[in-house]
Amino acid sequence: MSTSERVAFIGLGNMGGPMAVNLQKAGYAVSAFDLSADALAKVREQGVTAATSASAAIEGAQIVISMLPASRHVEALYLGDSGLMSSLPAGTLVIDCSTIAPASAQKVAAAAKARGVAMIDAPVSGGVAGAAAGTLTFIVGGDVAALERARPLLQAMGKNIFHMGEAGAGQVAKLCNNMALGVIMAVTGEAIALGVAHGLDPKALSQMMAVSTSRSWATEVCNPWPGVLENAPSSRGYAGGFGNDLMLKDLGLAVEAAMGIGATIPLGEMARNLYAMNKQAGRGALDFSSVVKLVAGEGPKT
Ligand code: NAD
Repeated sequence: MSTSERVAFIGLGNMGGPMAVNLQKAGYAVSAFDLSADALAKVREQGVTAATSASAAIEGAQIVISMLPASRHVEALYLGDSGLMSSLPAGTLVIDCSTIAPASAQKVAAAAKARGVAMIDAPVSGGVAGAAAGTLTFIVGGDVAALERARPLLQAMGKNIFHMGEAGAGQVAKLCNNMALGVIMAVTGEAIALGVAHGLDPKALSQMMAVSTSRSWATEVCNPWPGVLENAPSSRGYAGGFGNDLMLKDLGLAVEAAMGIGATIPLGEMARNLYAMNKQAGRGALDFSSVVKLVAGEGPKT
């Protein structure tokens, strides 16, 4: 399949790299840029055109997609000195897939609107495996018309698309999901640790919980206790998976979003501290389920 639409893709890290490749495979002409020469070389090997700068990547593109680490990178790309928003032609569609503060997404969307550029925030769920397999979930904020224009591209990179509301709503929903996940993972580890301290078998306890009322992704798919689920990061020294530092970042955004409107998130704030303590204990780069080592005192032996 081929399409005449040209796509500029900025940010080719763990997530953006495979997403850009999937678009290319779906027939889009993708021109990509990353500050890292290694990241750029990886996608070039798979047929994506490597540009020398973000400005060069957007030349002739009708659609711009960004997948950057945090709010400051996204604001700098679009709104900074000689940021893209000062040169994008009216009618361009911008899709920002980074996980950033809802307020930042709204700021960039307002600048886009003033220029006649359509924009959606479309953070993702599904991790690196979902990015590679093209099965991501997109959580979208912005105009329905902009989403409909973006839909075929999102479908080339993912499986599920949820429209949550106006600009920034995708980011809010993403933070709600990850805040709940962070709390559930920590308390699941705490519960298994309590059982084990009483002499229970962690596998038997987890199997019971996985079909009972505390059932969750943490009991069924990413169990934090080593040896319970063969394919979970906990069973390979907490390597791979969703990094503690990324969870910490998302919980920080949730706290910021709550403070911005005077909302209270007592468990979310506590969880942010737990993942910060887990980072201080040297586990920032490990899967976030390693937080179990903290809540279980000494934690399980790995
Ligand atoms: P990453 O650090 O692997 O990649 C980010 C890339 O952006 C890097 O290659 C970096 O060089 C590049 N970059 C930074 N500033 C740039 C600029 N100005 N111009 C061009 N390139 C620039 O991060 P990632 O894991 O790909 O995550 C990207 C986003 O997706 C983050 O917001 C993260 O929270 C979110 N996310 C990640 C996961 C995951 O499992 N990794 C899951 C869901 C969402």
